[in-house]
Amino acid sequence: MNSFTLIFLAFVLATSAVLVWLAQRQRNSALRNRREVPEAFRDQISLAVHQKAADYTAAKMRLEQIDAVIGALLLLAWTLGGGLNLLAGLWAESGWGQVAAGTGLMVSAFLIMSLLDMPLDIYRTFVVEARFGFNRSSVGLYLADTLKQGAVFLILGTPLIALLLWLVIHAGHWWWLYGWLTWTVFTSAMMWLYPTWIAPLFNRFTPLEDEALRERIVRLLRRCGFASDGIFVMDGSKRSQHGNAYFTGFGANKRIVFFDTLLKSLEADEIEAVLAHELGHFKHGHVRKRLLFMTVASLAAFALLGLLINADWFYAGLGLQHTSYAGALLLFLMVAPYFSALLRPLSSYWMRKHEFEADDYAAGQTDARNLVDALVKLYKENAATLTPDRLYSAYHDSHPPAPVRISHLAAKRISPSAP
Ligand SMILES: [Zn+2]
Repeated sequence: MNSFTLIFLAFVLATSAVLVWLAQRQRNSALRNRREVPEAFRDQISLAVHQKAADYTAAKMRLEQIDAVIGALLLLAWTLGGGLNLLAGLWAESGWGQVAAGTGLMVSAFLIMSLLDMPLDIYRTFVVEARFGFNRSSVGLYLADTLKQGAVFLILGTPLIALLLWLVIHAGHWWWLYGWLTWTVFTSAMMWLYPTWIAPLFNRFTPLEDEALRERIVRLLRRCGFASDGIFVMDGSKRSQHGNAYFTGFGANKRIVFFDTLLKSLEADEIEAVLAHELGHFKHGHVRKRLLFMTVASLAAFALLGLLINADWFYAGLGLQHTSYAGALLLFLMVAPYFSALLRPLSSYWMRKHEFEADDYAAGQTDARNLVDALVKLYKENAATLTPDRLYSAYHDSHPPAPVRISHLAAKRISPSAP
């Protein structure tokens, strides 16, 4: 224990308290407005649908609160409670070399962490999501997913961890710069490989068959000057009723992916509008900007790690007596989210700004009305709340809440340039 221990405790306590408080505000806001559909949505959303959204939001917020409390307690158990110290002690006695024992420590810690996260995830999937009719996954599929995710982590993560530890030990003072380069190359390669190698392990991707829709999409892509590796439909419905559309990969390896659930619920006009929104993100360079930001942020993180990895107060303050580079890396990864939580509202604000820009782009390429209709359907199908709390939204939301986003688009609709 040292003064860093007190700073750490203060951050963990403050962050968890803020998360619990914000979730409570969101929960209250949904339940308080449960009795009436907001004026702007009365034509499209029934009271029953609105109430389901309120109840679903309330249940999700309760889960968020439980998650925040358990997360903080587990972190304290790992650090000051001596959990990591115990595990590090076992690996120190293994007689393996520094890189091998360090890799063993990190891999085993990650596996234990995911096991500890499982009960709440199972509860979320099979109790909460199921209660509102969203879960489509079976126990067998859930287990298969878990095992596959574990295998992917072991196959891809283990060499990366070993390489990073080797750099810390053998690359000298500037190891963190090489470490950052390794990390950047690794994450770029993952983004490249993900659509064609990893995603198909979990879902089936089939080329979009609907000829008429396909042609409309190709026309839209041409109009926007966008090249892609194909338009695919993903069998999202085998796990969940929630619908979505996204782009994946980059360069010529870019794919457009629609969840089958989305195609089923939206009209062709609306699908085109959703896609135009996604294209807006590319046109405005949002993907590039976010990648650049992540690259700079990870450089800062590695530089900070370069300073902390030899700092005794960092290990001692967080309850680790068996000092090792692997232990420092683990502590850093565990603790960093509580210190960076302060930045979350800034990144959320930035993301929401991008959403408005993409909506504006879509409104220019297609009829804004179609996007509004699509969004209302999606809010309805995902049981998203139409009455969010202002502060919760400002902190968490990467997308503007329903009423804000739709009134922004409605303003476009009545602008003089619209028909
Ligand atoms: Zn978007």
